[in-house]
Amino acid sequence: MRARYDHVNVKPAIRPDPEAVTVRAPAKVNLQLSVGPARRDGYHALVTVYHAVSLFDEVTVLPSDQMAVAVTGEDAAQVPGDKSNLAWRAASALARAAGLRGAAVRIEISKRIPVAAGLAGGSADAAATLVACNELWRTGLSAGELGELAGGLGSDVPFALVGGTAVGRGRGEQLTPALATGTYHWALAFGQAGLSTAQVYATCDRLRAARTVAGDQAKPATEPELSHPLMTALRSGDPARVGPLLANDLQPAALSLQPDLRRALAAGREHGALGAIVSGSGPTCAFLAKDAAHARDIAVALTGAGVCRAVARATGPVTGAAFVPGGQRA
Ligand code: ATP
Repeated sequence: MRARYDHVNVKPAIRPDPEAVTVRAPAKVNLQLSVGPARRDGYHALVTVYHAVSLFDEVTVLPSDQMAVAVTGEDAAQVPGDKSNLAWRAASALARAAGLRGAAVRIEISKRIPVAAGLAGGSADAAATLVACNELWRTGLSAGELGELAGGLGSDVPFALVGGTAVGRGRGEQLTPALATGTYHWALAFGQAGLSTAQVYATCDRLRAARTVAGDQAKPATEPELSHPLMTALRSGDPARVGPLLANDLQPAALSLQPDLRRALAAGREHGALGAIVSGSGPTCAFLAKDAAHARDIAVALTGAGVCRAVARATGPVTGAAFVPGGQRA
């Protein structure tokens, strides 16, 4: 299946500052996350429905004689400032692909997407950096070529480039657009502490193995399949139809690692959320609301219940990595 990058914008309409390029990229929630057995390469076969929401990191790249990453925002201390940063790796991968030996850049990340939260914030930064450096260095890679590079950087990076609502297969990197209509309103509850994606997958495997030993075949790790009822509901644009179909195979593992998340999910349901789900590997909980006012009510209720570190409201779907008009520099 071919990835589709037709609408990724690789050129800004105007570039007011030749010395800096700013690109923002969105967080994602997974409307469906079906996890198959672990593959030989250690990854799990997935079928997922990604949905980009209006919570963005902004990445500014500037010419420099050496590579550097600077991160600002509440979670900045949890983000590496060296070559292990996914944004740094993205810039290096682009320089290699374009044959730019020794190319360097200063990367400034304004971080609003919580870290290790199941929202793919690092992937968003990598996607934004690919688009920003492609413009700064005038390397001229096509959207499809950037998509290929993105898939090599991480499973969620190609989706952060395209955004919208899309089906991911393989490790999640093989994308096809999903026919979704309407705007969906979300309340997001951020956890007190992050969760390691690797640990959540390992826990998922362990829980499944334990169930198999106990003879419980309720949820064996079979090849994952796309939920056609969910796809039909997304085409209808009706959140009341979508809500009950949200599904995440990693949720039991995330709940076993952070049992308090049950309280957050219950609080959202009590306040009429149409769907309540752990996003990706967690611990962020995503609540689908009837409309904008309902999303605000759920967010207020979650805050009042004291079940999370912070809440945010967001709408989806939004587009993937996009130039910020005026290319801000604070
Ligand atoms: P994953 O993408 O693995 O599912 P996630 O979405 O839950 O993870 P991220 O915020 O992407 O979480 O961060 C995962 C880890 O990646 C962090 O703990 C951090 O150490 C590392 N990391 C590397 N680069 C970045 C970056 N630019 N932003 C955030 N985290 C980064």
